[in-house]
Amino acid sequence: MMFHFLMQYNMPIKIPRAPKKQEKKQVQRGRKFGFQSVKGMHDILPDEFAYREKIEKAVRKISLFYGFERIETPMLEDRKLYERGTGLSSEVVSKQMYTLRTKGGDALALRPECTPGVVRAYIEHGLAYTFNPGKFYYWGPMFRHEQPQAGRYRQFYQCGFEVLNSNDPVYHAQIIQASLRACTESKLKQVHIKVNSIGCRQCRPNYTKKLKEYYRGKLSKVCRECVKRYGDNPLRLLDCKQEKCAPYKAEAPQSLDHLCSVCKRDFKQVLEYLDEMKVPYMLDTTLVRGLDYYTRTVFEVFIEGTDIALGGGGGYDYLSETLGGPRMPGVGSALGIERIIEAMKLQEVAPAPRVNARVFLVYMGDQAKKRLLSLREELFEAGIPAHEAFAKESLKAQLKAADKEGAAYAVIVGQREVFEEMALVRDMKNGNQESVPMKKIVEVLRKKL
Ligand code: AMP
Repeated sequence: MMFHFLMQYNMPIKIPRAPKKQEKKQVQRGRKFGFQSVKGMHDILPDEFAYREKIEKAVRKISLFYGFERIETPMLEDRKLYERGTGLSSEVVSKQMYTLRTKGGDALALRPECTPGVVRAYIEHGLAYTFNPGKFYYWGPMFRHEQPQAGRYRQFYQCGFEVLNSNDPVYHAQIIQASLRACTESKLKQVHIKVNSIGCRQCRPNYTKKLKEYYRGKLSKVCRECVKRYGDNPLRLLDCKQEKCAPYKAEAPQSLDHLCSVCKRDFKQVLEYLDEMKVPYMLDTTLVRGLDYYTRTVFEVFIEGTDIALGGGGGYDYLSETLGGPRMPGVGSALGIERIIEAMKLQEVAPAPRVNARVFLVYMGDQAKKRLLSLREELFEAGIPAHEAFAKESLKAQLKAADKEGAAYAVIVGQREVFEEMALVRDMKNGNQESVPMKKIVEVLRKKL
């Protein structure tokens, strides 16, 4: 039987006290009250999750299609893991690492990046017996004490792909492809790759010697940071973004001209594999990346025509050895989730659609509220999501909430329905209602949904 629900009820509807204007304003707009998130750390609010979900879905798809296993390592690790692994001459460790000493005296660090942790876990758990090569992906927060600015945070998320225990160039290409795919599957357009090779233990020293020779006469002309790099980590001279250093950088010797025959062969293969997979890449002979452990291929993922770096990575043939582990080459990438979201917003990529419950539970009176709790458990068992606005008392407010949620049906229960073991199922589009025995609700909703 169809009838208008309000006719059923002649009991007075209690209207909750409306918040005073001032009170409402403060809750809606937010208010400073003595605490705020720490500088450079940001809250991830529901709206942002709609974007994150899209990226997560893309990353899960890639892991499934390309065979990467999920791994998660702790946010706190032994500080030496990064000092030795990521390297003391990298800014990430020397300037930006959050370190702490526990009450027990352990020197720990909040991870500034995940690769050394993954390598540690692979060795510590003997994963080479089961996963060889080990293909993993991770997702989680990283911490760097940098000057916060647009797209640069002190706590930010990275997802990354790693292949451990192989030096086959095919995995260098696969890591690049997986990183590119993570962006394109998040529906980003014009995603490109910059790629270079910085050689290995054999050929790099000869190259850095040439680089130093070239820069020696120019030290009075380059920036102060470059003078420091000249002494600490000459390769990073090519990473300088200062305008005054640009002309020297442009004329500097290129690592590609100084690769040993093995690195040359490997890099050629990487490029051939990328061609085979139709990966849009360009050679960038000044690309060196900021972490100390990189060897052979290095790459960066970016949006064409912008300087938005979505991520990057490269080979790390000696990282395991540097940490005191076995000889175990690897290759990996890290993508910045906030940067991908920034690019999605710029390109107006739609976030993942919000999945609303199609059923909304509406009560009148305490007994009905209680009865709906057990009905909801039945709906849960039946796989039917049902939302509610139990904190609201008035029928009108609850139905308004159901409307806002976009629910297709409201299940309305009042005192009488509790007594008669019935419920009203209201079609939220046209307002039609039918009275249904409580024990048939699941069946009726199943048919309707
Ligand atoms: P890296 O681990 O330095 O190779 O960085 C890989 C990617 O992580 C970068 O391309 C950025 O997208 C992202 N990223 C690095 N540092 C930050 C930061 N402080 N805030 C936000 N994203 C970052």
